[in-house]
Amino acid sequence: MKKSLRRVALLLGALLLGALLLGALLLGALAVGVAIAFLFNAWHDPISGGQSPDNFFASREKARIYASFDPTIERQFVRLTPENANGWFHTFAEPIQSFELYQSQNPTRPTATRRVIVLQPLGAWKPEEADLLEPLRAYCSDFFQLPARIVPPLSLAPVDNSSRPSGYFPGRKQYDAGLILSQILEPNLPTDAVAYLGVTMEDLKADDLSFVFGLGSWHERVGVYSLGRYFPKKRAVKLAPLDKKRALYRAMQVLNHETGHMLGLTHCTVYRCSMNGAISLPDSDRTPLEYCPLCQQKLAWNIGYSVSERAHQLQNFYRKEGLQNSPVETPKE
Ligand SMILES: [Zn+2]
Ligand SMILES: [Zn+2]
Repeated sequence: MKKSLRRVALLLGALLLGALLLGALLLGALAVGVAIAFLFNAWHDPISGGQSPDNFFASREKARIYASFDPTIERQFVRLTPENANGWFHTFAEPIQSFELYQSQNPTRPTATRRVIVLQPLGAWKPEEADLLEPLRAYCSDFFQLPARIVPPLSLAPVDNSSRPSGYFPGRKQYDAGLILSQILEPNLPTDAVAYLGVTMEDLKADDLSFVFGLGSWHERVGVYSLGRYFPKKRAVKLAPLDKKRALYRAMQVLNHETGHMLGLTHCTVYRCSMNGAISLPDSDRTPLEYCPLCQQKLAWNIGYSVSERAHQLQNFYRKEGLQNSPVETPKE
């Protein structure tokens, strides 16, 4: 009797142990499954670097990117934090575009027959405003290490007279940026243009926005940018030398940023950098002119230029224009 009791107890004990082991195994498998799903998700969803830059994956990804550069070079750049970021960063959550992600996205690249940045003046320019065009062309060429040319100006009016009366809003003295893209730039896209950039002194609007600095259609490789608001007083009669320098600086920044987009770079959420999103003119005025090491790495890979030759040419350009590799002081507006 005692023996059989012990046998039952042993049997029960063995069953309990088995159940416990099975439970542990199931729990373990569940945990592994969850972890795999978590990692898989994080791997497939671009890691957010926007409004939540300090979440686990974003922090790890940023640390990995920072560590991938030569520390002596990396130290010269300012890492992006919620404290030093533009207003844009606090408004839009954008993913981190690592170098590897950028390469995998198959961005637009120059080819042997399609490698010119074409600047297209649109509408009327005063002579002193038109003085900006040649330095802008030279800058685009040095910055992207690609040929750049200015083509003869095109008239802006009227862009459409069928579905809408025109792309011009007389009351607001503004042009419709979307219609300029579809009706002026896209039909005139030069076959050798890797980017076709319309520049105008006129004010632009798009959709419901009261004005826009510019609008680009990245896959079509066309964009239109208004430089009119970069002057202290729109269409000022006479420009002081500093005003001219500031307008040039702002135009350089918008063109290097927008052309970056055309070459597949998204907004930079890792460093203070020209590819940071900007929500206003003060926002863009406090944005650096240069690309950070990550955005430069993408550009150098895309275009295949010599980094040292580019740096040398840009230094010469800054010296010639009296910009000394740094922004002219931020205007108080
Ligand atoms: Zn942008
Ligand atoms: Zn950057």
